[in-house]
Amino acid sequence: MSAALFTDDFKAAPYWWETGAPADFSKTLLPSEADVVVVGAGYTGLNAALQTARAGLSTLVLDAEAAGWGCSTRNGGQVSTSVKPSLSTLQKRHGSTIARALLEEGQASLDYMHALVRDEQLDCDFRETGRFHGAHLPHLYDTMAAECETGHKVWNTGAYMVPKAEMDRELATDAYHGGMVFPHHCSIDVGKYHPALLNKVVKAGAIVKSHCPVVSLERLASGFRVLTKCGAMKAGKVILATNGYSGPLSPDHQRRIIPIGSYVIATEELDQALVDRLFPTDRILSDTRKLVYYYRLSPDRKRLLFGGRVSLNETDPAKSAIRLHQDMTALFPELKRARISHSWMGFVGYTFDTLAHCGEDKGLFHAMGYCGSGVGMASYLGMRMGRKAAGLETEPSAFEQITFPTRPLYTGNPWFLAPSVLVFRLRDRFGI
Ligand SMILES: Cc1cc2nc3c(=O)[nH]c(=O)nc-3n(C[C@H](O)[C@H](O)[C@H](O)COP(=O)(O)OP(=O)(O)OC[C@H]3O[C@@H](n4cnc5c(N)ncnc54)[C@H](O)[C@@H]3O)c2cc1C
Repeated sequence: MSAALFTDDFKAAPYWWETGAPADFSKTLLPSEADVVVVGAGYTGLNAALQTARAGLSTLVLDAEAAGWGCSTRNGGQVSTSVKPSLSTLQKRHGSTIARALLEEGQASLDYMHALVRDEQLDCDFRETGRFHGAHLPHLYDTMAAECETGHKVWNTGAYMVPKAEMDRELATDAYHGGMVFPHHCSIDVGKYHPALLNKVVKAGAIVKSHCPVVSLERLASGFRVLTKCGAMKAGKVILATNGYSGPLSPDHQRRIIPIGSYVIATEELDQALVDRLFPTDRILSDTRKLVYYYRLSPDRKRLLFGGRVSLNETDPAKSAIRLHQDMTALFPELKRARISHSWMGFVGYTFDTLAHCGEDKGLFHAMGYCGSGVGMASYLGMRMGRKAAGLETEPSAFEQITFPTRPLYTGNPWFLAPSVLVFRLRDRFGI
């Protein structure tokens, strides 16, 4: 570890844990039964539990680790409409009606975040900052401009192009050939959102138990026998909210989720004049790379939080920090001397069709596969599955109406990851 690169108090842990560390509910007693058991205490699980508990169903939320230990306290705090494929791709795959419905629910997920934060009065610095999405190669600017004309104008998203000559109002870097602004995308304080939500779920009457891995789910004549490392119990319904940490508990889901590590560093506090010059806005930031860089200032505008995928195989956050720092300074040479105070990673849940999925199989509900874009979508689909489990929702989500694909011989170990990352790296370099 290069000492000059790291602060003396460097932590291989999320910056967000300074204010919102995952919560210890290990002392909670395991009840003998519950109407609904939610497996996973991230955004999906908590938003589901809020619905079922408020509907009067006895609700138990279980997590294998501390509550919030997964991606929901590790992410970049960027909130978009969360649907990756374009309208034309979706139309080809699913036809016009479902394609439109999927995109509409992407917007609904963002609208839900606004409503949730407002109605529940969650103190989490949720702000409509907009996103700047930079073109890292010239022809990708043209591709984006065409997409802006055909897709975004039609969808009325408000997205607009910023040519390279006008870039300085967005970002002080020569690394991009212009980009697109999505004015309605938002940022959130990850260190505050999860604890605030957890507090609401507990107040709604749900029981939360941490450090209690669920080992198996056995179907009974009515409901499930839930075997955990802390004992066994009965559940009327089960909601799987395990996303990138979906293990052998449900092999059917495990073989549909590709766990991929995503890595982030936080810099030490930076000189304020430098921050204001490099980042004249509060926008969240990303670019056209397949191995995307995503970054933003911390909510107090003192640090840069810089994320991406920098290694072929999963690696130690102290090692990924060095690579991320190199990549960050390639974009912003003036940050060369900025030391790293935090470095961390988490497993996002990718899918073979780059779409999220949710649904029900006789009392077993799931929502997962957000492909690294789940702050809004996990919250929304968690809410939808909670309402469905509580009998409050009869209309299926568009994400329930599409097949949740897998591949032959895939059981949950992404052996193809390193070669795929290599291919993406080459494609990013040569724009192919
Ligand atoms: C580094 C990083 C950056 C990201 N940045 C962004 C971003 O900027 N914007 C965005 O929209 N999305 C981002 N994401 C993705 C986003 O954080 C996730 O999509 C979202 O948090 C998923 O929430 P979840 O509740 O489904 O899963 P998680 O928060 O991962 O929770 C799953 C939980 O399930 C538990 N679990 C698993 N198996 C069991 C079991 N058998 N028994 C009990 N518990 C179990 C785990 O312990 C875990 O706590 C990022 C993710 C990472 C890792």
